[in-house]
Amino acid sequence: MKKKDLNYLKKFLIQQLMDLLNRSDCSLNGLDDTDDNLSDLLDRATQISEREFSHHLCSREKLYLRRIERSLQDVEDGVYGLCEQCDKEISLARLKARPTARYCIDCKTQLEKMEKLTGIDAT
Ligand SMILES: [Zn+2]
Repeated sequence: MKKKDLNYLKKFLIQQLMDLLNRSDCSLNGLDDTDDNLSDLLDRATQISEREFSHHLCSREKLYLRRIERSLQDVEDGVYGLCEQCDKEISLARLKARPTARYCIDCKTQLEKMEKLTGIDAT
């Protein structure tokens, strides 16, 4: 993935994270200057999501928050945009539509078949 695209998606993920966190009434001092310190942001988001936020966020939001955190962790680890199943690059169009995607479209299609059978959302 091009660095420009990675930065774009990273910013998008951070924005989503902020939106989710800001939806609650907890005080979030320090969460604004995040761009240079992603691991701090992630630490803080994880702490918040596990403690204070547990009562405020509905489970769907919490699930999405965790997905964003995971994707941002992947950005940090340099593996963002790679399919968890087959290690191929996930298409940029797919990531732009769904920045927390963890599988390429081929694997996702496979998994969706499984989901229909098991009722478990594997993304
Ligand atoms: Zn794949």
